Amino acid sequence: MFDSLSSKFNAAFSSLRSRGKITSADIDQVCNEIYQGLLEADVALGVVESFIEKVKSKSLNALPTLQSGSNQAQAIFEIVNAELIEILGGQARRVRLAKNPPTVIMLAGLQGAGKTTLAGKLAKYFKDLGDTPILVASDLQRPNAVNQLQVVGERISVPVFAPEPGNGVGDPVVVAKAGVAFARSKLHNIVIVDTAGRLGVDEEMMKQASDIRDAINPDEILFVVDAMIGQDAVKTAQAFKVGVGFDGVVLTKLDGDARGGAALSIAVLTGKPIMFASTGEKLGDFDLFHPDRMASRILGMGDVATLAEQAKKALDGESSAKMEEKFIKGEDFTLEDFLEQLEAMSKMGSMGKLLSMLPGAGAMKKQIENFDESEIVRTKAIVQSMTPQERIEPKILNGSRRARIASGSGRKVQEVNALVDKFSAAQKMMKQMINGGGAPAGMALPPGLPAMPAAPRMGKKPSTPPKRKSRSGNPAKRAIEENS
Ligand code: GDP
Repeated sequence: MFDSLSSKFNAAFSSLRSRGKITSADIDQVCNEIYQGLLEADVALGVVESFIEKVKSKSLNALPTLQSGSNQAQAIFEIVNAELIEILGGQARRVRLAKNPPTVIMLAGLQGAGKTTLAGKLAKYFKDLGDTPILVASDLQRPNAVNQLQVVGERISVPVFAPEPGNGVGDPVVVAKAGVAFARSKLHNIVIVDTAGRLGVDEEMMKQASDIRDAINPDEILFVVDAMIGQDAVKTAQAFKVGVGFDGVVLTKLDGDARGGAALSIAVLTGKPIMFASTGEKLGDFDLFHPDRMASRILGMGDVATLAEQAKKALDGESSAKMEEKFIKGEDFTLEDFLEQLEAMSKMGSMGKLLSMLPGAGAMKKQIENFDESEIVRTKAIVQSMTPQERIEPKILNGSRRARIASGSGRKVQEVNALVDKFSAAQKMMKQMINGGGAPAGMALPPGLPAMPAAPRMGKKPSTPPKRKSRSGNPAKRAIEENS
């Protein structure tokens, strides 16, 4: 979504980094370039102006305290990073859980914004944390909305309170109220209420949403908005803020290729944090919104923290501990390990999405787009056709063994050869990293993956996410944990 903005930032900073000593005129120039980039990305004018003003004055203040041009450029880069984090809302905010469960979450937004899809994603998110969510079907307007929610609920094994068929039949306020009462009686600790939108902002919709709000007194009202609609997202948000009021924003369709201005304007203009981001139609395409990680992506530094979190989720504890130990002890990375990694990667989702989180990914957009996901399946088939001994000791792979593997996996001998060669190169790279050399620029990723360009300079290590405290599934215990 932020591709063109990212390339503007990149161009501005690479020219700044090439200067020997930076002057105030250079700062003006970089600010002008950023200003243009932000406006082209459809960021609201007021937000752009105040952003540039802050970057300029902080940069001018920082200049005299630093000697060399590259240190100065880095300091300005960090100022821009900090200001970007700020306009994206500063800190990530989690859902506030009610002292007395259930925590009631109401979703509001236009029709087609992605509320029903999000209801399912949120329910899955809480279920994975050990909560006991229930969905309430109060969108009785949009054709098929009730049925859609039921299908989603079934897929994630979360109950759906849906006493009315919808499609214009039933009273959404009555359903919402009864849904919350039902959740309380059945000891569900989270209730997610889906409501009806309209194609545009209208009074009837606002009235219905505010009647539901008054009937169920939600702990969180989340305004769901399609990030693809650009500046209109901000206008709609402002109308909902006045008409219904909300506590946080959920941006959907961040996987689209719109210019991203909505994401960069909405927190400042509504004064409400972006809490979740939805990045696709699948139930797993969803995450907490982290302003620092988003800023990092926009500035071309990737999103290593999310990647690490996803890897941790996909690799089971035992296998990641084993890999870590191997790495520390400097043991060989074998094809056996590689197969395990490939299987974990397949669990993490599409390779295109994973690669796009790496530093410098913007520079290889085409390669990522053209990445052939089936390459992983083919690579897996080849490794699976090897004997355990061959996976540990690929050097025993002579001609006849290679021919056997090729016919066993239905691939050509040349493909087996290419995999073994690339694997040896990756193994060498791992050894180099273990010996403290770090990953070389333009490093080769494991076989089957494209080569990455060198990562842009980073002043600081990417921030690692704070360790999540373990959360009890028991709502009472949880309240104690949350407050401790
Ligand atoms: P509602 O009217 O607000 O309940 O909207 P829906 O949940 O039915 O979503 C409208 C359409 O947007 C559906 O086709 C969804 O599959 C799609 N959608 C929802 N969220 C996302 C997202 O994050 N990315 C993409 N690409 N599509 C989405």
